[in-house]
Amino acid sequence: MEQKRVTVNRTAEADCNGCRVCADICPKNAVSFERDSLTGCDMPVVDEKICVNCGLCVKKCTQENPVRMPERMVENVYAAWSKDDEVRYMSTSGGLFYELAKKMLDQEGAVAACCYTEDCRGAIHTIAFTEKDMLKQCGSKHMQSQTLHIYEKVEKLLRDGRKVMFVGTPCEVAALYRYLDGDPENLVTVDFICNSITSPKGQEKYIDYLEEKFGSKVISAHIKDKRNGWNNFGNSAKFENGKEYYRDRNHDARTVGYARGHLFIRESCLHCQYKKLPRNADITFGDFWGIREDARNPKLEMGTSVVIINSKKGQEWFLSLEDRVGFYEETMENAQRGNPAILKRATENGNRKKALAALDTMRFDRVVKKYIDRDSFMKKLVRKGKGLAKMIIRRREDGSERIQ
Ligand SMILES: Cc1cc2nc3c(=O)[nH]c(=O)nc-3n(C[C@H](O)[C@H](O)[C@H](O)COP(=O)(O)OP(=O)(O)OC[C@H]3O[C@@H](n4cnc5c(N)ncnc54)[C@H](O)[C@@H]3O)c2cc1C
Ligand code: SF4
Ligand code: SF4
Ligand code: SF4
Repeated sequence: MEQKRVTVNRTAEADCNGCRVCADICPKNAVSFERDSLTGCDMPVVDEKICVNCGLCVKKCTQENPVRMPERMVENVYAAWSKDDEVRYMSTSGGLFYELAKKMLDQEGAVAACCYTEDCRGAIHTIAFTEKDMLKQCGSKHMQSQTLHIYEKVEKLLRDGRKVMFVGTPCEVAALYRYLDGDPENLVTVDFICNSITSPKGQEKYIDYLEEKFGSKVISAHIKDKRNGWNNFGNSAKFENGKEYYRDRNHDARTVGYARGHLFIRESCLHCQYKKLPRNADITFGDFWGIREDARNPKLEMGTSVVIINSKKGQEWFLSLEDRVGFYEETMENAQRGNPAILKRATENGNRKKALAALDTMRFDRVVKKYIDRDSFMKKLVRKGKGLAKMIIRRREDGSERIQ
């Protein structure tokens, strides 16, 4: 009979989304994280000398025992954007994060969200009390954020009576609720439509490749750079030597590896427990892919967000932005049409582990080329084969020609 585990020690990557709440929750501080050398993802390790086998870390694990918050319901779906063009342009989608965070800071609250580390090789959750620090949290970072102790810090702020907004992946929002074991009135949570998260190894090797190419250190990185429009976004980076990198979504190796191939993602995303509606977060945002420009939103190409409201608190917060945010009601059907990741998990790429291993010896762009181009070539071959087979069947049915 399979033995039920008592601790999260070396949980398999498929069963661990990396939220790190087990470490914050352990009464003995016995859980730490170690990098898996193949995938580059951080995995929990328990110090058995101090662990008392209480079982709390497994009981509270967000992947093993998924969180389902009560009193959640999809209240409304909106297309929305910041009315401040500068904010809208610099943000990944429509600039809703900035507007929500600004509102929170104006009320003397705090914002817990994700920043790049200084060298742009990693991402980490921080707490901002000022606009200057909050600006560092703007923008998507497509790699797993380091969230150790963030739940503990948020809980302390809430206990001290401070208002807090927490933004993270759906599994990180679940982790916060798990840690708090409730839904305090002074907390508002925001998650995003989360296709998947990239292994930190993927990001590190991408930065290595850019630094080699430009002969200088990266000083800033920008996902979904909109200089050629939101639908035709690219990736860019700036270097210490003053040079700048930009490639559109079809030619930037990172975007191709992520969007077309799911090459470097964490395995747990293939088994995501949070592709559900309503979400646990009060508000869910994402890109409103597929939306058409019209008189209500004439500057669509500056970025437009889809906003899904999952609670009464979320609805109040969103409507309180009325003077700073343009919006109109939309349907879930339209939102899902362009963005299946709302409910659909990422699919397995059979080359994922080979590509992650290849990063140890090959340059990032070459790994993407090797595994994506070969993949596309095979798919093209299969498509052509299917087309040919259909043509043969049709001709046989017509009786017009026989091919031996
Ligand atoms: C890993 C990832 C996958 C995503 N997948 C999709 C998708 O499939 N479809 C879709 O429509 N939208 C997706 N998004 C969301 C989208 O990219 C925008 O972040 C979102 O629409 C908010 O845009 P904004 O303009 O309002 O604010 P932005 O200024 O872009 O704010 C982004 C917010 O997300 C937080 N954040 C950024 N990176 C991370 C991270 N790695 N971990 C945790 N929090 C982070 C930031 O701190 C900030 O609060 C994804 C985002 C991320 C980070
Ligand atoms: S079983 Fe208890 S003491 Fe041991 S690691 Fe888990 S939470 Fe910590
Ligand atoms: S999913 Fe989260 S709680 Fe569970 S083992 Fe992984 S890091 Fe710990
Ligand atoms: S896809 Fe699911 S498991 Fe992966 S980061 Fe997003 S919420 Fe977490």
